[in-house]
Amino acid sequence: DINNSSPVFDPGHIVFPGLPRLLSGHTDVHLREGIIRAFADNTPNSESAFFTADLSQVYAQHARWVKNLPDVEPFFAIKSNPDPYVLRLLAGLGTGFDCASHNEIRQVLDLGVDPSRIIFANPCKPTSIIRFAAMESVNVMTFDNADELVKIARSHPKAKLVIRILTDDSKSLYRLGLKFGVPVSAVPTLLMKAQELKLDVVGVSFHVGSGCMDSNVFGDAIGRAKQAFVMGSALGYEFTILDVGGGFEDAEFEKMAAVLREAIDVHFPERKNIRVIAEPGRFFVTRAFTLAVNIIARRVVRTDGNDEETPQVMYYINDGVYGSFNSVLFERETVHPYVVTLNGSFPSSSSLAREPLVPSSVWGPTCDSTDYVCPLVKLPLGLKVGDWLGFRGMGAYTLCTTTQFNGFEPSQVVYYTSGIEGSMEASATRRVLAGMMKRESRGIMATYSAS
Ligand code: PLP
Repeated sequence: DINNSSPVFDPGHIVFPGLPRLLSGHTDVHLREGIIRAFADNTPNSESAFFTADLSQVYAQHARWVKNLPDVEPFFAIKSNPDPYVLRLLAGLGTGFDCASHNEIRQVLDLGVDPSRIIFANPCKPTSIIRFAAMESVNVMTFDNADELVKIARSHPKAKLVIRILTDDSKSLYRLGLKFGVPVSAVPTLLMKAQELKLDVVGVSFHVGSGCMDSNVFGDAIGRAKQAFVMGSALGYEFTILDVGGGFEDAEFEKMAAVLREAIDVHFPERKNIRVIAEPGRFFVTRAFTLAVNIIARRVVRTDGNDEETPQVMYYINDGVYGSFNSVLFERETVHPYVVTLNGSFPSSSSLAREPLVPSSVWGPTCDSTDYVCPLVKLPLGLKVGDWLGFRGMGAYTLCTTTQFNGFEPSQVVYYTSGIEGSMEASATRRVLAGMMKRESRGIMATYSAS
């Protein structure tokens, strides 16, 4: 029933051994390609939801970071999206990595990243993993309590420690301060404990919280970090790391960067011996991923058109809050679908604009009634079972937070590189990835011939 012909792909795609084909083109081309394939296929789960990942967007975000914060080294927070292509690309671009667990450290080291490019940024770590970090020479790690210091003194006495302080995250959607961070007033006590245990504290970190739209929080946080630096030097420590954490929002990035640059200049005018690092997660990946979902069922609950606040149609899609929309359940995030197919066809924008919209709700595939993705959204009345919806900006805390509740599989990813404003990002992205893959295969060959 599909009215468009199959898209043509650039024959210059890269094939990485053991990894999927890297396509070129644009998001909608690849959504359409996946959808056409699903329509043609009749096997179980052929209409599964899937992501398209535009790796050039990750490249472009990196360029944006370097332009706006040239003196702040990004350590990508892998928790936001541990996708193997994203990690390879960022490793090839020279970023560091913020890891919080054994598997995250392992994944980054396996790419051939030097342990000095990792910060173990989890203030509460299992002792066995602190020991593992010591064995792998991952030395820089955060702490925010005395018991952690005792564990580190026993398991990794040569660690280079970064004290995580509490900042004002009251305006953030994800308030990390509820769980981590020592108030600045308690910093001296904790530093004295570190001294007693003969531990080396080398810096200060904070996290303003995720989903914060107020750029001024960075100014306040840098002021608090400066106080902690002063407290450190009063005790004889000479800190060399200022870690400004994550929480960089795509829409606010330029503003946040400006506030941060200015605050660093004000509070750390002389910073020859200070390395400023950050732990951005969502900033690098949110934009790059789009999710396509299939309408697997539909229920018309009422036909009168007067009430705008009550859904008229319930749509059931094949990914939900126990899958890629986990943040809708836990963080009350809101997501907005767009129509990809309408009554079995890819609609033109003008025909879509003519469609009457009705209040609708969108539900996930599990048998749980908390599994609703959009409680109230306007969608065309012509949407039918088998049609596809898209969700943009799905790159952060989506693939990595899915569960397999009710036996539903995580959505798979189709990779590509688009040419954003020309083809510069696309070809540069491919070059960096190809370089990484070459290095990796040389590593594999070396291991092979040594054994
Ligand atoms: N660093 C730490 C310690 C975190 O806990 C997080 C997120 O939870 C991040 C960095 C990444 O934050 P964001 O994705 O908002 O940049």
